[in-house]
Amino acid sequence: MSLPIIDSFGRKHTYLRISLTDKCNLRCTYCMPQEDMQFMPSKWLMQADEIQALAEIFVEMGVEKIRLTGGEPLVRKDVGEIISGLGKLPTSLTLTTNAVFIDQFIGNLKEAGVNSLNVSLDTLNPERFKTITKRDHFSTTLAHIRLLLSEGFIVKVNVVVMRGINDDEVNDFVRLTIDEPNMHVRFIEFMPFNGNQWDMSKIVSYAELISTINNEFDFRQLSGELHDTANRFQVSGGAGTFGIIGTVTHPFCEGCNRIRLTADGKLKNCLFDTSEIDLLTPLREGKDVRALIYSHFEKKHFAHGGHVSFTEKQAKSDYEQNRRMIAIGG
Ligand code: SAM
Ligand code: SF4
Repeated sequence: MSLPIIDSFGRKHTYLRISLTDKCNLRCTYCMPQEDMQFMPSKWLMQADEIQALAEIFVEMGVEKIRLTGGEPLVRKDVGEIISGLGKLPTSLTLTTNAVFIDQFIGNLKEAGVNSLNVSLDTLNPERFKTITKRDHFSTTLAHIRLLLSEGFIVKVNVVVMRGINDDEVNDFVRLTIDEPNMHVRFIEFMPFNGNQWDMSKIVSYAELISTINNEFDFRQLSGELHDTANRFQVSGGAGTFGIIGTVTHPFCEGCNRIRLTADGKLKNCLFDTSEIDLLTPLREGKDVRALIYSHFEKKHFAHGGHVSFTEKQAKSDYEQNRRMIAIGG
């Protein structure tokens, strides 16, 4: 067993998020740039055996939970093989998906021990879905969320709330949690990334979300854990829960335990830190990558990748230099 990955603030990193691809079958405006997107050539991507090898190293270094993400992880042809391989590791395994292809993987996920998934859905209105994602898959996504629930999976629905786009639907999403114990909605503050047309005025803040929900529902806060990104709540008498991920106005960096591996094998110690370390090349050369991993986490900043604030001016200069969200892995 190797030493755990602990940064200079004493945070132990036990949660690995692996991006499988920067490709996607949707084109969400907040995630992908509006202009033509250049995808990574396939030979840059970690292959299934390389993903498995790196995951095994991280597990030896104390990782307890692995999440597959992207881009859309389910567009990768060998995703079934990757899920099966990672399912054999002594960690919990989960994924974040837009659920359009999830019906093809139900058996595969169950065999790999996956019992909870995050599904992105930003609107309950089919026309709006088309506007936000530039694709017409609303009914499939909704049907697949129902399928996952009927198959006994816990479903966390991720909703990026944007002013003037879908902020009038917050309470409709909260209502979904009332009767369904396995339904957990999480509202995410809109974050700035390269080319995603972010500006401060489009954020619907943690405080505003609480106030909107308070206008219609009685609810209580649930206890949380140090590493939680979402503060969780439950409507009185409700079965499921809702949460708010207030990355911008209500950050949770203090308890951060997350490690990110991009689809091309670069290690990121924070979603917002532009610095990366290449693990794939040394892995391909047969070198031990552990020292690189420790050194990158020793340099981890306390919050937001070292950027001091999310003001409009700073966000435009700092966060625009980061990768696009779709190329990091959300
Ligand atoms: N394709 C999968 C999906 O949509 O669930 C996985 C990848 S996606 C990049 C992961 C998560 O990041 C999604 O829940 C998405 O809503 C979120 N996300 C993407 N861009 C974002 C942004 N600018 N602000 C907040 N959340 C964002
Ligand atoms: Fe694709 Fe997910 Fe990004 Fe939407 S949020 S474009 S579904 S990767």
